[in-house]
Amino acid sequence: METEICASLAGSFDAVCVEDLNLKGMAGGLHLGKGVHDNGYGLFLSMLEYKLEERGKYLIKVDRYFASSKICSVCGKKKEELSLADRIYYCECGNRMDRDVNAAVNIMNEGKRIFAECA
Ligand SMILES: [Zn+2]
Repeated sequence: METEICASLAGSFDAVCVEDLNLKGMAGGLHLGKGVHDNGYGLFLSMLEYKLEERGKYLIKVDRYFASSKICSVCGKKKEELSLADRIYYCECGNRMDRDVNAAVNIMNEGKRIFAECA
């Protein structure tokens, strides 16, 4: 199933931006989980990268410590506090968005920035 998801993503997009893993943290046995099972996620990323590269496309990894959840994807303002219980991101600028969608937009924007630097 993961293979199909990877193939579908690689077929649909020229570049995919993802949050990276902290392999050192994993090796040290630290639980830095953000609700993601790192091992399975790592395998998923490897497979996705392979499928993208096969088609001459890109996997762009954003540092996992990039504050993707805390930044408003509309105005760029950063919240000091955001609990995991806060499922909706509210900002003073009027932005009201699903927390994960807001984080995904930030990861995409950061990925574009990194990509532009490398190009
Ligand atoms: Zn905002």
